Amino acid sequence: MADTKYIFVTGGVISSLGKGIIAASLGKLLQERGYKVTIQKLDPYINIDPGTLNPYEHGECYVTVDGHEADLDLGHYERFLNTPTHKDNNITTGRIYQNVINKERKGDYLGKTVQIVPHITDEIKRNIKLLGTKYDYDFVITEIGGTVGDIESLPFIESVRQLRWELGRNCLCVHLTYVPYIAAAKEVKTKPTQHSVKQLQSEGVQPDMLVLRTEHRLNKDILRKVALFCNVEADAVMQSVDVPTIYEVPLLMQEQKMDEIILRKLNMPIKEKPAMKDWRNFLDKKKNAKETLRIGLVGKYVELPDAYKSINESLLQAATYNERKLDLQFIHSDKITAENVANTLSSMDGIVIAPGFGQRGIEGKFLSLKYARENDVPTFGICLGMQCMVIEYARNVLKLEEANSTEMNPHTPFKVIDLMEGQKTVTNMGGSMRLGAYNCTLLKGSKVYEAYGKEKIQERHRHRFEFNEDYRDEFEKSGMRCTGINPETGLVEVVEIPEKKWFLGVQFHPEYNSTVISPNPLFLSFVKAVVENKK
Ligand code: GLN
Repeated sequence: MADTKYIFVTGGVISSLGKGIIAASLGKLLQERGYKVTIQKLDPYINIDPGTLNPYEHGECYVTVDGHEADLDLGHYERFLNTPTHKDNNITTGRIYQNVINKERKGDYLGKTVQIVPHITDEIKRNIKLLGTKYDYDFVITEIGGTVGDIESLPFIESVRQLRWELGRNCLCVHLTYVPYIAAAKEVKTKPTQHSVKQLQSEGVQPDMLVLRTEHRLNKDILRKVALFCNVEADAVMQSVDVPTIYEVPLLMQEQKMDEIILRKLNMPIKEKPAMKDWRNFLDKKKNAKETLRIGLVGKYVELPDAYKSINESLLQAATYNERKLDLQFIHSDKITAENVANTLSSMDGIVIAPGFGQRGIEGKFLSLKYARENDVPTFGICLGMQCMVIEYARNVLKLEEANSTEMNPHTPFKVIDLMEGQKTVTNMGGSMRLGAYNCTLLKGSKVYEAYGKEKIQERHRHRFEFNEDYRDEFEKSGMRCTGINPETGLVEVVEIPEKKWFLGVQFHPEYNSTVISPNPLFLSFVKAVVENKK
């Protein structure tokens, strides 16, 4: 096999243009041509990882199989490529500096002055090339977070400049920009793109391909003009016009031969044009679905849908495979009261209680769960959502008044959810939760077993608190069953009320493990129950 090829994806003009989706789409197209591909995200912030960040900052924190708290773009990479990412797929400025400073303390620099160039850039380059050498990929696509021209991203762009020089024809740069439409003049404007490419050039990087984000289709003349001004071949200027779903972007890029042009530029066999059969099948199902399911997601970060990105996508995938459209309603748990809960939830065909941390909005989750349980609405509790299911049941069915999680009230008389033993000595907040994939054994005959169709599964986790084993008998006797158990530690991972249509909570996060081609079985089962319920 030839050497690993490195493709960099940078962004200009403004942020939030969807670099992650473009990187994932390109990855998908190359993968479909038979290549081994991985995608990496470099984040210019100083946090070691996004685990300590409030979701309002950068949206959801994604979790990899190997227990890394990662940027949500890794979720897109997995959903598109259907292959797991790892710790090495997400690097921040903080981690780069931490590694360099640790080496300095050990004396590894032998008395040298430690500097951004070459020491920080060497460490960045090492982390990029690591993916190629350690895992034997044909293509490593590296997305550089932020926008060209940011002070923070300078060392990353400088590393790209150096790598282009070192790797020669094994390296290529795709730059994503924005072409605004000025309504008053009825014109699209390419000047911001020209400026952004100039900025990139002034940092020593010439893009090989441009992707122009636009709300209006751009004609050939505009594309040619951009090519001319930016030193890019005319056929290497792509446009990414707004589409109804991000999952159409790979097809949009395929139409413009993005993958072929890249393979040609990198001197790689072009191979056969992929039919993308499974992918198109998913899109057809999505387009052809007639009936709509209305699902309420109860959480406290609902003003920012990115805070629940993987849940939104998992629900969409499951709805699509159940041949339904999804009308996802974001419901603010903070705003739910005993008076308005019935009104707020009565039009929902199904309810999801979101993960989360801390006291805010928690009472609204209990009220929602009481309503859902008493009215037998299909309900799915995820992580904190599962813990809330347990607490609500303890309070209102077992009559353990003031039952709670010790996270919310350390002095509760009934600690039905309590800090895990291994967490009691933890002092550092970063990377110290129970993280990543763990085994779970499912009870035959349960809903969760039926959903997965097997006894042994693995799902990813991110939590510090757990179901308190001392109360297990009491719950089981009164009708809430523990149907998924970690075989190594005995930890309760799944609870359900068998007599309800579908009332199930999981301590793990199945949403991190649901892709376009293989949707998560539990989401499929939940949505199926929602469909039945609607009938
Ligand atoms: N706050 C809860 C815990 O730490 C739930 C975490 C979550 O929902 N991810 O156990």
